[in-house]
Amino acid sequence: MTKTNLLQGKKGVVLGVANKRSIAWAISKGMSDAGAELAFTYQNEKLKGRVEDLVSTLPAECPLFPCDVTDDEQVAALGEGLSRNFGSIDFLVHCLAFANREDLECGFSQTSREGYLLAQEVSSYSLTAVSRMAAPLMKDGGSIQTLTYLGSERAVKNYNVMGVAKAALESSVRYLAADLGEKGIRVNAISAGPINTLAARGISGFTDILGQVAERAPLKRNVETEEVAGAAVFLASDLSSGITGEVIYVDCGYNIVGL
Ligand code: NAP
Repeated sequence: MTKTNLLQGKKGVVLGVANKRSIAWAISKGMSDAGAELAFTYQNEKLKGRVEDLVSTLPAECPLFPCDVTDDEQVAALGEGLSRNFGSIDFLVHCLAFANREDLECGFSQTSREGYLLAQEVSSYSLTAVSRMAAPLMKDGGSIQTLTYLGSERAVKNYNVMGVAKAALESSVRYLAADLGEKGIRVNAISAGPINTLAARGISGFTDILGQVAERAPLKRNVETEEVAGAAVFLASDLSSGITGEVIYVDCGYNIVGL
């Protein structure tokens, strides 16, 4: 992405970097190129090294915090760490989701209670939990953003329980935006087209989805992670100061197509 100074003087945290293919990593590079100061999280000690190695390739030193979003104490500790390191923050990027493979693969009516609740907890409720943590740190207002997918509103084959979690996530974006707006905090979602990441490989038939999108999307191709990163930089920047509670599609236009 072209270097800009759109985020010069802004500080924020990115949740959801797993490896170099992660959408969160493309967003982090875009934000770093735009002048932002970044902090990162990792889900557990086993995965810390991978995130550490990636983050060390950025030009500035970035604090790293453990944060499994299902653990309230870790979310609270992340808030304390950010406050200690940065004093205040301007943005938070929530770029994570999880569902058990068996709950993605079975017919939707076979979804287990535990699998349903787990997908909701990690992929949807966590946005509310981290927004509550981040709001007091956004002393001059701020931007919270999350990643979603079209399977929230259409029945996409094999997306199943994750589609329902994304529907709840998008609704949470609207309620959080309404709740936090008077503090100058904006909350938005980016609905990305399919991208070949670790999480996406959990969806069976994912390669077919990539092929169909390239064939049918108005732009006749799949989206690049850098294009998602561009929207994320825009949403964290003052250029988007009038936008909140929205789901912005970065999907080469696939969502507008009927037959
Ligand atoms: P990814 O690289 O596999 O990222 C998923 C992230 O979720 C990983 O960093 C994973 O951490 C994290 N995570 C899972 N459970 C967690 C927990 N309990 N606490 C904290 N973190 C947890 O895949 P991605 O495709 O970039 O996914 C990022 C976001 O984009 C997700 O919300 C996904 O639904 C969304 N999205 C993806 C696509 C696509 O086609 N790829 C399209 C639209 C939207 P660990 O690996 O460390 O467990």
